[in-house]
Amino acid sequence: MIIVMSQQAIEEEINRIIDKLTEYGLTPHLSRGTTRTIIGVIGDKKLIAELPMEAMPGVEKTIVVSESYKLVSRNFKQEDSIIEVDGVKIGGKNLSIMAGPCAVESLEQLLESARIVKAAGAQFLRGGAYKPRTSPYAFQGLERKGLEFLAKARAKTGLKIVTEVVDVESVPIVSEYADMLQIGARNMQNFQLLKTIGKTKKPVLLKRGLAATINEWLNAAEYIMSEGNYNVVLCERGIRTFEDYTRNTLDLSAVAAVKNISHLPVIVDPSHGTGKWRLVRPMSRAAVATGADGLMIEVHPDPSKALSDGKQSLTPENFSLVMQEIAAIAALGGKVLS
Ligand code: PEP
Ligand code: MN
Repeated sequence: MIIVMSQQAIEEEINRIIDKLTEYGLTPHLSRGTTRTIIGVIGDKKLIAELPMEAMPGVEKTIVVSESYKLVSRNFKQEDSIIEVDGVKIGGKNLSIMAGPCAVESLEQLLESARIVKAAGAQFLRGGAYKPRTSPYAFQGLERKGLEFLAKARAKTGLKIVTEVVDVESVPIVSEYADMLQIGARNMQNFQLLKTIGKTKKPVLLKRGLAATINEWLNAAEYIMSEGNYNVVLCERGIRTFEDYTRNTLDLSAVAAVKNISHLPVIVDPSHGTGKWRLVRPMSRAAVATGADGLMIEVHPDPSKALSDGKQSLTPENFSLVMQEIAAIAALGGKVLS
């Protein structure tokens, strides 16, 4: 249930409702908008249905939410959420660019990548230290060393670091080095991992699962938020369809849909979304035109030598072209590269 407080509701009335809900063993989540406060209520559905909340002072109305997700919904929060990652804002009028190699391969490769993406205007450096590869014989990542290299690249460039955390055990170590935790497509429904990250306050980039519906994706975000971590950014990265010319089918309609039904920022990964570097540029333009809050793009100093995903990685020159084009498109939609 969602409790919409009246515009005139005073602090004492809000607190009284929170106390009452807590007394009943329910979990209240507060959302303070510019004009009114909304309280999301989570817990026993039957009990919630019987609560006489509309009779309490300060309450304008209650809304029963039929979707299984609540906190991610625009019913709960009307304004776009802006997620802050160590001072850099994602969402609202900001266009956020995360770029870098698929995997951290060496300190030299990473520092060179960081230099390239920073010069072109990205705010975040991406790069996997723990790589979830299809084959167990493929390069699995530099793990702790990779995290150390990412921290060095941050110190040198000021770029924020977004990197994948693949299991519950490595949440503490990845949190120590990264500014933002990436949950990969393969882990989107690793509920234990979602709950563990939900108990931290670390910003999260939640990628859409390989075959996840929008509903499942939003419920995955709800898992994180219901534990108290509201710093969630969604990432559309393509889904499995019958089409096999592309690695995945980039679902830009999901971006428009999610922007309607949720207040969370959505960014798009056209690299994994297509698997082909030639398609990254047009799909980046399309994503920004659709209203995405940013992009995650794989960039490598020399894609032909990449240890993973070279086929979908942009050269420095092509990345720079993408950046120029999307800045112009973003401006049309009132967004700026911050
Ligand atoms: C990645 O971003 O490096 C990655 C593995 O992406 P995904 O989880 O979307 O496949
Ligand atoms: Mn990759």
